[in-house]
Amino acid sequence: MEAADNQFRLAYKFELMVKPGQAHLLRLFCGHCRFCYNQMLSMLMDEYEAYKKVLEELKGQGKSETEILTYQKEHRPKLRKFDLTGERLRQLKEQYPFLNQCHSQVLQQKVQDLHSAYKNFFEQPANGYPRFKKKGQQDSIRFPQGYKLDEANKRIFLPKLGFIRYRKSREIIGKIKNVTVSLSHGKWYMSIQTEFPLVPILTHANLETAVGIDVGVVKLATLSDGQFYAPLKGLVRPIADKIAILQQRLQHNTKGSYRNRELKQRINKLHGRAANLRHNYLHQITSSIVKDHDYVIVEDLNLKGMTKSASGTMEEPGSNVTAKSGLNRSILEEGLGELVRQLEYKLKLKGGILIKVDPRNTSRTCPRCGHVDKENRKTQAGFCCVKCGYSNNADLVGAINIKRAGLARLGSESGHEPEQL
Ligand SMILES: [Zn+2]
Repeated sequence: MEAADNQFRLAYKFELMVKPGQAHLLRLFCGHCRFCYNQMLSMLMDEYEAYKKVLEELKGQGKSETEILTYQKEHRPKLRKFDLTGERLRQLKEQYPFLNQCHSQVLQQKVQDLHSAYKNFFEQPANGYPRFKKKGQQDSIRFPQGYKLDEANKRIFLPKLGFIRYRKSREIIGKIKNVTVSLSHGKWYMSIQTEFPLVPILTHANLETAVGIDVGVVKLATLSDGQFYAPLKGLVRPIADKIAILQQRLQHNTKGSYRNRELKQRINKLHGRAANLRHNYLHQITSSIVKDHDYVIVEDLNLKGMTKSASGTMEEPGSNVTAKSGLNRSILEEGLGELVRQLEYKLKLKGGILIKVDPRNTSRTCPRCGHVDKENRKTQAGFCCVKCGYSNNADLVGAINIKRAGLARLGSESGHEPEQL
């Protein structure tokens, strides 16, 4: 599934609006794939166990090392992908004719997945056998061919399923490589993987448009030009609160009861809704930033230690439910990583550049005189230089410093030419 060096792969996820008949078929096909996977896995495991048993016996009989090696060489289960997806699959379909209801390439894809999993096992037996698939766990089917995407009419044609409408949130870029349909949080989604050549760094990439961005849970994004974007907090909090309430109720009820299963489903759905909201909001923001800027500079979030910096500042005093704030925070922090990810790939598509800088001192350096002092930042929101008296909003100061650090890196690492990331 790896793309070639000069190719770039993207996955687009859309919600499908399946008709009841189609939902029935999708469940059926997922079941067939799972059945196929499990049948073949158990067959492979039996063969492997039988082989191991003979091997043990030979050792027990005190056979010479050469004899044992010869046996290993001749009888070690061979795993050829085309044996599995070809002859073996054909036999299985003969034995269980109902499998023919499913598009044959979809079954083949599942068998390919098993082949990869089993190969991994042979390369690293310590990980244990591949696991049997259970109903409801990562139910998905993949179409390598046969699909027809009709973007104008917001629908996709899938073999044996017909046309399915989808919630189109954006246009697709690149050549479609495959389409995966999966069930998540009680809804059907399709993920379209595309591939396209990387755009060379813009020859006209305009350094004048360079912008530093301070991201955080309190303010989602503050730009060095003074623009800022409201936090995700307001957006996901009502849902996070609801989840917290339902989770408390869950703890009071009897485990495994009908009521609890129902609650779990509702919680699941809410998580899905929060993810969708966050996703759409972030796409709006990142598209708008990338439209106006060729160079975007952010702090390296991995170095920043998000949880630590967020503690105590995110929740106003008084809202004292720690479980709730923890939940809020984790949802929000996931959003920050996603924000940077989107900026990165959208810039790549445009031929722009994302630069990540060391977050140290970005919040305590004075942009006017360069004095570094933690006393410069006395409160969460306010920056005031103890040396020269310069004062401004602390997030804005952070963004300005981030931009400077990025530009300095561009200058020092590669003369006047921008570096290629
Ligand atoms: Zn100063």
